[in-house]
Amino acid sequence: MSSVSGGTQVMRVMTPVDPLIGAQVGSYKILKLLGTGGMGSVYLGEHSGIGSRVAIKFLHEHLSSNADLVQRFYAEARAVNVIGHANIVSIFDMNVLPPNRYYLVMEYLEGKSLESQVGASMPMARAVPILVQVCDALDQAHQLGVVHRDLKPENLMLVKRGRQEDFVKILDFGIAKLQSTMSSRKTATGVIIGTPDYMAPEQAGGDNVDGRTDQYSLGVIAYELATGRTPFAGLPITAMLVAHLSQEPKAPHTLNPAIPAGISAAIMKALGKRPESRFASCGDFGLALEAALKDSRSASSGVLVSPSGADATAQRATPTPPGTTLDRLTPSGPKGSSSSVSGPASGAPPRHIASFEIELKPDQGAVQKLQVQDVSRAGCFLISKLPPPRVFTRVSLTLPGVGAVQGDVVRHVSAEQALAWNMPQGFGVQFNSVRPEQREALDLLTKGLPISPTEPAAQPSPADDRVAEVALGEFRRRIQGDHYVVLGLAPDVDIPQVRAKGRELTRHLLELRKRPVSPTQERQIDAAMERVHQAIDVLGVTTKRVEYDGQRANWKGVAMCLSAGLRVPELESIRARFLATSPGAEMRGKMLLMTANGFEADGKIADALRNCELALGVDPLNLELHHKRNALLRRTPIAR
Ligand code: ADP
Ligand code: MG
Repeated sequence: MSSVSGGTQVMRVMTPVDPLIGAQVGSYKILKLLGTGGMGSVYLGEHSGIGSRVAIKFLHEHLSSNADLVQRFYAEARAVNVIGHANIVSIFDMNVLPPNRYYLVMEYLEGKSLESQVGASMPMARAVPILVQVCDALDQAHQLGVVHRDLKPENLMLVKRGRQEDFVKILDFGIAKLQSTMSSRKTATGVIIGTPDYMAPEQAGGDNVDGRTDQYSLGVIAYELATGRTPFAGLPITAMLVAHLSQEPKAPHTLNPAIPAGISAAIMKALGKRPESRFASCGDFGLALEAALKDSRSASSGVLVSPSGADATAQRATPTPPGTTLDRLTPSGPKGSSSSVSGPASGAPPRHIASFEIELKPDQGAVQKLQVQDVSRAGCFLISKLPPPRVFTRVSLTLPGVGAVQGDVVRHVSAEQALAWNMPQGFGVQFNSVRPEQREALDLLTKGLPISPTEPAAQPSPADDRVAEVALGEFRRRIQGDHYVVLGLAPDVDIPQVRAKGRELTRHLLELRKRPVSPTQERQIDAAMERVHQAIDVLGVTTKRVEYDGQRANWKGVAMCLSAGLRVPELESIRARFLATSPGAEMRGKMLLMTANGFEADGKIADALRNCELALGVDPLNLELHHKRNALLRRTPIAR
């Protein structure tokens, strides 16, 4: 709103009317806007019949054309419901208002965000129980392989529950994952990425994240509650990223003498630079905070355990037992796409599992063979176009290598929903009896690792030629790999070497063909020949190879193509195609480049080079990054 001072004219800036206010969405009428974040806007909705209130989060309209984002918007919601913890906001439904307004229906939280409470230090008797609730919820999430990645005071709500004032609800769970897949996430304040204040070193460094990444962010929040400021407050973004990577913050009790030393030590441990130096789990962090608070109380009161010392424990939220509340059951079941849920808190890689067949036996029903899409320790999703067993039906599943597991049907995905959410039709099953020895096998399954060799090794038949058999054994192994493996070459090999190797292998295979080989061996030789030619066809031509290398994040190969004379316009158009399928690459690359620049400014050339190469790992076709790396290499004293 602006006015022209001193004049008689008043200029009004019209606020556009929000078409959602007053609209009917399913059974709910939208009353008002509650808040806006990077992903969407959250509205208050009221049930037209019974008057109950919900919060409805709409994915921003401009993001809805990105199918990947839409899928993840929902995938994360499914993950939240698999966790099903009282301290995490419950999501009741997910749907789309035609043609493209995607939304989630959540429990409405009446309270204040923790953000309104930071800026001044909070008494530890109040802060610790808040932190412990977050620890409990995160611990459960991490055990199920879900990492939040964007913990900050803005994403923690404090609500009143019964007589408890500071009951915590974690918002935006896992949505942060999206930040790395969006090329231009703008937050409400217009900053490209969220504040780096709460970002763990491994997030700035582009390394793998796991539950300990959330622990670090929570450590920053604890630090802020204890001292009134984040550890590196006031530094510009680049300097702050570098500080998280390499600078030790001042211990909280040195800034605020009211902080008990034990609490200060626990916070500093959670802020360890390397994940291995932090607590093994968020649960352990919570226990350490509680114990330190208790110690300080008994020390100051002179009694061993003061009556109030038990408060924190009493306030610990009890996780909702599986399958007892409807909110847990509504959109539950499968976790999202392979990339939305990473492996268990041990730092396992994201799941990526092929579908396989399992046997399903519903209560009093016949055994069916169905495809499983996604397995976690908590449950799995079964693909089926047939009418699914009713919700709550007890089923028995036979999973390869795991054996029989009992579970309950917790969710149906209809044909229409499948279309809207870009997922298969079917139903989710939540496991309710997994024996300890089955856990390990399930973990292997969730990591996509084979539990037993799928195909027995081929037995040579008497008709096979022995000499050819030895050579073919080697080819059989190679043709499982990528083009480089097929040719047995390093990723940065030059083009003349590719061609020379191709000629050598072709000659070799032609010689084998002249031997008295069996018909099976003949087919294998032809197949190997075909694969060798495919490999030369791609790796021997710069324009094709650079596209292949880009998709495989092989920046060394890209660098080779550049030095072999690949032209810039060709590179740019290939990169444009690459970025269209990897929308987050550019932004992550930029962040890592910023980190590299920070190190360079500090004279830490080796660290700068490492981060530049990490940046190339995510945005391998970025010419600026290649130039930067070359410049850094020239400044590196050790020959590489
Ligand atoms: P984004 O993913 O876009 O950051 P959030 O889930 O963080 O979205 O929501 C944005 C804001 O909306 C929050 O900071 C909060 O103020 C408000 N909000 C979100 N969920 C709820 C809810 N369930 N009840 C009340 N307010 C909410
Ligand atoms: Mg948010």
